[in-house]
Amino acid sequence: MLWKWPLHFGLFLLSQFVEIIVPITAYTASLAAHQMGFGLGQFIMPLGWPVELVVWISALTFMIYIVHFALHRVRSLWAFHRIHHCDENLEATSALRHHPVEDFIALVTGIALAFLLTPSLNTLVFAFAIIMLINLFNHSRIELPDRVSTLLEWIVVTPRLHRVHHSPLARQTDSNFGGTFTIWDRLFGTFCLERAAGMGLDHESLAGPNSRDFDTLMLEPFKFLFKGRQQD
Ligand SMILES: [Zn+2]
Ligand SMILES: [Zn+2]
Repeated sequence: MLWKWPLHFGLFLLSQFVEIIVPITAYTASLAAHQMGFGLGQFIMPLGWPVELVVWISALTFMIYIVHFALHRVRSLWAFHRIHHCDENLEATSALRHHPVEDFIALVTGIALAFLLTPSLNTLVFAFAIIMLINLFNHSRIELPDRVSTLLEWIVVTPRLHRVHHSPLARQTDSNFGGTFTIWDRLFGTFCLERAAGMGLDHESLAGPNSRDFDTLMLEPFKFLFKGRQQD
């Protein structure tokens, strides 16, 4: 899998143009809203930092769940999210595998939520760090004993749960949308404890060698969209 690291690192660098500015721009939005006397932070902050962190991380992971659901259900969004799903074997760096358009969606929605909730800088950075660490963990090849996974899955998304989401079987792909905590999938009936039926996309143009080529990964989503328009 050594060939994959430069590819994922390249995608990571590209997405950092967008992703590294998510906490910065989100905090700027938070400050702006705060100065305008807008946002819910003014009511949440007096309750203390632990409460603020729980509110912010709950809202952020819920929004990520909704956006991820939409990335699967809306064809023009799925065109870009397929870059993440065509990976043939998951490893920690697979968590970094996103098309910049998908990162841009994360940026816009992150800014909007920060404007609404006006979190402090500490809360914002801590939450993004937790989300990134759990994402790297659940894309990794760590094989935990079933009992440990079952215990962890009361709260966090484990590698075996996220592998189900990366299965080519539609029923399994359309489950376990949460990337950090399992609560949203449990609440909305998309939690799936089955064994993953496979890995990657076995029925699409991005399967096989195409899933390893940087240029193809960047351009193919636009061809996918154009092809769809021609068929309409
Ligand atoms: Zn997905
Ligand atoms: Zn994933």
